[in-house]
Amino acid sequence: MPSTRLANLIDGRLAAPLDDHWLDVYEPATGAVFAQCPDSSAADVAAAVYAAQRAAPGWAATPADTRAQLLHRLADLIEARLDEFAALESRDSGKPVSLARRLDIPRAVSNLRFFAAAIVAWESEAHAMETGAINYTLRHPLGVVGCISPWNLPLYLFTWKIAPALASGNAVIAKPSEITPCTAALLGELSIEAGFPPGVLNIVQGRGPATGQAIVEHPAVKAISFTGSTRTGASIAATAAPQFKKLSLELGGKNPAIVFADAELSDENLDTIVRSGFANQGEICLCGSRLLVQRSIYDSFRERYLAKVNALRVGDPQQASSDLGALVSREHFDKVMRCIAQARDEGGRILCGGNALQLEGRCADGWFIAPTVIEGLSNDTLTNQQEIFGPVVTLIAFDDEADALAIANGTGYGLAASLWTGDLSRAHRMGAQLEFGIVWINCWLLRDLRTPFGGSKQSGVGREGGVEALRFFTEPRNVCIRYL
Ligand code: NDP
Repeated sequence: MPSTRLANLIDGRLAAPLDDHWLDVYEPATGAVFAQCPDSSAADVAAAVYAAQRAAPGWAATPADTRAQLLHRLADLIEARLDEFAALESRDSGKPVSLARRLDIPRAVSNLRFFAAAIVAWESEAHAMETGAINYTLRHPLGVVGCISPWNLPLYLFTWKIAPALASGNAVIAKPSEITPCTAALLGELSIEAGFPPGVLNIVQGRGPATGQAIVEHPAVKAISFTGSTRTGASIAATAAPQFKKLSLELGGKNPAIVFADAELSDENLDTIVRSGFANQGEICLCGSRLLVQRSIYDSFRERYLAKVNALRVGDPQQASSDLGALVSREHFDKVMRCIAQARDEGGRILCGGNALQLEGRCADGWFIAPTVIEGLSNDTLTNQQEIFGPVVTLIAFDDEADALAIANGTGYGLAASLWTGDLSRAHRMGAQLEFGIVWINCWLLRDLRTPFGGSKQSGVGREGGVEALRFFTEPRNVCIRYL
């Protein structure tokens, strides 16, 4: 049996699952089990909801300033153990430890601090009427809310949900992905040390169709903030609809990165374009998996791009020198390999990668795939329409702006697009016409936490970030007073 058994956090206490069922947690770089996490049942969820229901009124009545202080304290405790968190996140998800140290964990800390600051600075709305009345809007927390997060950016996305939910006065039932449960479990332990009242934050580990479903179904859970696949999002929406629960769904993407001939293709910009396809092994919902390149520069761009992709080092995620680590699970590894085979079947030419990698030493049995670039596929192929969520980028040539727009928008998804151009007018024109929730121009993954975050079409419903998240987790009430 592995030495580490993770616990649920229910009513301020660490708890084993009630029926003592456990799930193995694998290290993607080695393929070996290194921990076990609770395989929680509906009974565990019910216990967590009961604790949250008891805690919710007191937490809602706690001054925003006090709630903010607790979130800051939790952020400080995580930051003090940054290296430990980064090593754990890397071990659990297969991502390079350097990435976890640079991106995931600092961003989790920022999420907590950002919403701690936002809640004390949040202004209420008032609307005066010339006819002699004034309206003001009260915003009450919803009560008990559910936060369900995926495996690709485990602590980053977990905190992105629980921070605004807690800041705005809700009691939370949170479920991280069963594939990457470790850092959320550690955060749970630290939340006790930080001094959160029992029942305010509950973390119930387990499988989506069991634990996640029980959270969504529970009548006392008033809202679900979910990040994950489009398929699961649809199932959650169907379950939640009859109870009229509030829903925020951040789902998949098939994002275009569009490179015009007038773009400044410095080495640094090219590195960002490469990163936008391959960061975190391509397992970021915002990765540009369709790389659209203007035909007049296609050949020269392809040569420079491939040289950089070929230079990416795939290796043991725990080594600082690795640019890419392992894919998160055997199942996901198999899925990405099937997608590459499908691209071949559809007539795609593999320009680099296309194969699994067998590393030496401790990573001999890990789930590694070489960064893969494919060309020769039209935009309507399955490869260019379905989310792969791995280190796979397709190159597509386009002629002009209209062509680029048609290809970029020609997808069922609408999460993020990035555009590389030196023409300011084009940047604004296309920024307005790209049908995506987020458009980056001459950059990628540059995030201001105040901005609305989310997608349209099959990429989701609603927005997170800044006041959007605080609005989601509160119920507005308009009070109208006539004074004339
Ligand atoms: P899944 O949809 O499989 O799972 C997401 C979460 O939902 C997990 O915690 C999962 O649990 C849980 N879950 C699964 N089934 C149910 C259910 N029936 N009811 C309630 N909860 C359930 O997504 P992945 O974890 O595979 O994550 C990858 C996906 O997430 C990609 O499609 C990616 O694009 C998307 N994503 C979107 C982002 C965005 O902001 N738009 C950001 C990051 C990722 P378990 O894992 O334990 O089964």
